[in-house]
Amino acid sequence: MWRATVLTLFPEMFPGPLGTSLIGKALNERIWALDVRDIRDSGLGRHRSVDDTPSGGGPGMVMRADVAAGAIDAARSADSAANSTGRPLIYLSPRGKPLKQARVRALAGGPGVILLCGRFEGLDERVIEARQMEEISIGDFVLAGGEIAACALIEAAVRLLPGVIGAEASKAEESFEQGLLEYPHYTRPQSFEGHEIPPVLNSGNHGQIARWRRAQSEALTRERRPDLWTLYEKLVRSARRPASPDLGPAKGLPKDAKNEPDPDA
Ligand code: SAH
Repeated sequence: MWRATVLTLFPEMFPGPLGTSLIGKALNERIWALDVRDIRDSGLGRHRSVDDTPSGGGPGMVMRADVAAGAIDAARSADSAANSTGRPLIYLSPRGKPLKQARVRALAGGPGVILLCGRFEGLDERVIEARQMEEISIGDFVLAGGEIAACALIEAAVRLLPGVIGAEASKAEESFEQGLLEYPHYTRPQSFEGHEIPPVLNSGNHGQIARWRRAQSEALTRERRPDLWTLYEKLVRSARRPASPDLGPAKGLPKDAKNEPDPDA
C-alpha cells in the first residue's frame, strides 16, 4: 500500500482536504495510508521545545536539527518495523527543486513518501544534510509552513494511484502529461450567455476533434507558458528529424519526452 508519513507540528491539519472526495475515499478503501506524526513528540525538555533562535542573529526561530532528526528516525524505525522501507525523505521547502508532474508520477510509482513540514524560518541545515533530505518546493512563493505543500504533493500522487480516479485514460491527456497545457473543455448547455460550444466538438469526427484539441493545447502553451513551449518544440523537432545515412538513425522522443519537459534542463 502506498504510504505517506507526515512529520508536522500541526497534526490536526491532517487528513484535512486529504480526507475528502476521491482522495479520502481511497484513504478509507486503504488504497493508500496516511501516518501523521507530531514533531513535538521529539521535542526537548518539559516544554517539548522544538525551535531556537537563529545562529548569527536575525528574525524568527529555526527548527532544531536534533529534534527533526529524532522525528525522522522515529518514523524510519516504525517503517522498518512495518516492513515498508525505501520511501524518499522529503523536506518541503521554497528552496527545493520545483515539483513537476514527472516527479509526482515517480513518487506515485514508488512505496510512498516521508514528508517533513517546516515551520518558523525553516530547518537547521545540518539535519537536511545528515539525513540526505530531498528538498522540494511547490512554487515560487512562501507558505507559513510545509503542511499545505505536503497536502498538495500527496494529493497529486494519490490521484495517480490505480483505482483512485475512474477514467485512467483522462490522466494521460492532462496538462503537462504531453509537455503541453490541456485543451479547453465544454459541456452542456449548448449555448451559454450567447457563447456556443465550438462546432467541431459536436461533429462526431474524432480525428478532427483530436486535431483541434492538439492545436488548442499548442496555442495555449505557446501563449501562456513559453518555457514549456520551447521544450516541446525542441522535442517534437528532434522526434521528427528524418533518418539520414550520415547522421545515423533519427532519434525517437527521449524516454520521458512525452511526460515532462524540464525547463531547467
Ligand atoms: N525562511 C524560509 C521560508 C520559511 S517558510 C525561506 O525564505 O526559504 C516555513 C516553512 O514553510 C518552510 O520550512 C517550508 O517547510 C514551508 N514552505 C514555505 N513555502 C514553501 C514552498 N513554496 N514549497 C514548499 N514548502 C514551503
